[in-house]
Amino acid sequence: MKNLARELIVTPDSKAKLSDIDPADTHGVNKAMGRERLERNCERLSVMQYLLYAEARRSLLVVLQGIDAGGKDGTIKHVMSGMNPQGVSVNAFKVPEGAEKRHDYLWRVHQAVPEYGKIGIFNRSHYEDVLVVRVHGLAPKSVWSKRYDQINDFERMLADNDVRIVKFLLYISKEEQAKRFRERLEDKSKNWKFSMADIKEREYWDQYMEAYEEMLRRCSTEKAPWYVIPANRKWFRNLAVSEIVLHTLEGMDLKFPKATVDLSGIQFE
Ligand code: ADP
Repeated sequence: MKNLARELIVTPDSKAKLSDIDPADTHGVNKAMGRERLERNCERLSVMQYLLYAEARRSLLVVLQGIDAGGKDGTIKHVMSGMNPQGVSVNAFKVPEGAEKRHDYLWRVHQAVPEYGKIGIFNRSHYEDVLVVRVHGLAPKSVWSKRYDQINDFERMLADNDVRIVKFLLYISKEEQAKRFRERLEDKSKNWKFSMADIKEREYWDQYMEAYEEMLRRCSTEKAPWYVIPANRKWFRNLAVSEIVLHTLEGMDLKFPKATVDLSGIQFE
């Protein structure tokens, strides 16, 4: 098995070009192999999560971004399925409202950062504030253009305080998006997912790609790297994300804490 973490990472300060990446790529893995490996990874993830929980000194933040129908929900369902729900939090970030609107854009995000011992998944994130906000001009350029540095500072602060961060851009082709929208129209069980807003967003495809590229170029850092996941094939997407989350947890050198009492003399009748 290839080292997908190494193949898919956006090297800090590199010139990320999405058009150089094939969203249907499977990096030499075939489906049967991929499925088998995903199953094994989910088991390993469950073990690593237990260790993280037991250690309770560090946390892992997984950020998921991607165009509509890119597969954020499916990834969460398939990759996190083996985990203990007590140790995981999932936050979906929508259009800010109420108190969110009355604070700076990182306020709601900071509150959702997983506590030590836990894995937190962001379904969309603070990156919306340099994506949808930029594409639709919801804030002037003078405001959003400063956010790349602010986000790097924020993530560095988290990393320095024992929050491990990995970020995934689920990358599908425009044709694949059309296919998935068609399925939402044709399959009764998927009708509820269909939204006219998604069709409208599709018109901004090129602007989103540009915004993604700048985000990747400026915010893939050593402490909080971005990975671009070719996501046309759902099985490969799930496999790649599971490999990288596992690789990250395994690199943390997690250890069970020592027992809090001397266990040697304890006996039961
Ligand atoms: P999803 O598409 O994630 O399943 P929704 O259909 O409710 O869920 O979409 C959430 C919407 O909220 C998206 O269009 C997203 O761009 C928008 N959104 C998220 N964060 C922000 C933000 N900070 N500013 C403006 N819009 C945002």
